[in-house]
Amino acid sequence: MSEMLIAGAQVVDPVGGLDGPRDVLVRDGRIAAVAAPGELAGSLQGELRVDAAGMMLAPGLIDIHVHLREPGQTHKETIRTGTTAAAAGGFTTVVAMPNTTPVNDSVAGLEWMLASERGAAVKLLAMPAATVGSLGSEPTDFGALVRAGAAGFTDDGKPVLEDDVMRAALVAAAEVGVPVSQHAEDTRLTGGCSMNAGRVAFRLGLRGMPVEAESRIVERDIRLLREIGRVERLRPHLHVQHVSTACALRAIRQAKAEGLHVTCEAAPHHFTLTEDAVGDYDTNAKMNPPLRAEEDRRAVVEALLDGTINCIATDHAPHASHEKEVEFERAPNGITGLETALGLALRVLHREHGMPLARVMALMTARPAEVIGLRDRGNLRVGSWADLVLFDAAAEWNFAAKDSRSMSKNTPFDGAAMVGRVRATICEGRVVYRA
Ligand SMILES: [Zn+2]
Repeated sequence: MSEMLIAGAQVVDPVGGLDGPRDVLVRDGRIAAVAAPGELAGSLQGELRVDAAGMMLAPGLIDIHVHLREPGQTHKETIRTGTTAAAAGGFTTVVAMPNTTPVNDSVAGLEWMLASERGAAVKLLAMPAATVGSLGSEPTDFGALVRAGAAGFTDDGKPVLEDDVMRAALVAAAEVGVPVSQHAEDTRLTGGCSMNAGRVAFRLGLRGMPVEAESRIVERDIRLLREIGRVERLRPHLHVQHVSTACALRAIRQAKAEGLHVTCEAAPHHFTLTEDAVGDYDTNAKMNPPLRAEEDRRAVVEALLDGTINCIATDHAPHASHEKEVEFERAPNGITGLETALGLALRVLHREHGMPLARVMALMTARPAEVIGLRDRGNLRVGSWADLVLFDAAAEWNFAAKDSRSMSKNTPFDGAAMVGRVRATICEGRVVYRA
């Protein structure tokens, strides 16, 4: 039997509605007890007592949208390095996207990715492709993939564009009880585009992606949900990835009010930065969906505050320096995000916009767990996995890309101010990161 008593921390558990001083007892990888300070001292038989005075203790963070690049692009990241960066950022569960080489679209591919031999430092889950090869025409075998552990389905990096294919994917996902995660981009409107359509793109002479490219797909998917509900009597779960525009958020807000099963996520860069960060062709500010105008950034913040956005997800997308150090239009999309998410969320949402700390933590723990149907993670219930993050909520520091655990350093947040610093991350009762 292995035990650990974390004593003296301010404990935040959004699911239990807890925000106060507690001691937490971990036994054999699970939460064994949460009690008033001092009450558990007598029950500790094992070895380890962690003095956490002055620290916050919360469920380990959950990121339902990461790119770990293995198999096939291990010069950018591996499952081991990506999950090590996750642990350093306070994450204890990450969900890998399928756009690896080859695309993760089969039971064999999924099992290979999730195998312990890959050396994941934290709990690794995956969403396989919604269509074979993510080519957008033939849905994958949802039943077999869910039995092998699929957390949902997505062609992330690309949308499921064809109406009938998306319809079939939503029906198949509803039958097995998982979400279809949509990268909402009408690629018929974004060919040759490398940033947001607007004054910065105009100044730089770049083709811009209109906000409608995102909202049109979201609106189409919502129409499909209605139709499937009416015709098939099914209630599919649509999850909209990395929402970045006011118009898509309007559609999502309305669909939720209608009672449709729609959830969505926002990435820290979309509530922190605008298209101005592209500056003079900075490829570290190039991602898809792109950084938008200030009114869209504000709409994302607003939707986080009013609960329209269910959770925060990083869209961690590592690329090697030589790949990013090219002309803006040729550079790949994406930035790393696992080690800056908590510091940005606490700075922007908690400090600048007054969101209570417990709600920020909910957006990174209980709410993402809910989106993918995880019950024994993202909370501190007795019996749940002892996935925990211990952090100094008041610490102010500056992120340095060179110190990142990720193999890649492509971030627009090199030197950026952060609030809140991770001191330790515990996954299934094991310390996986310590500052
Ligand atoms: Zn995407």
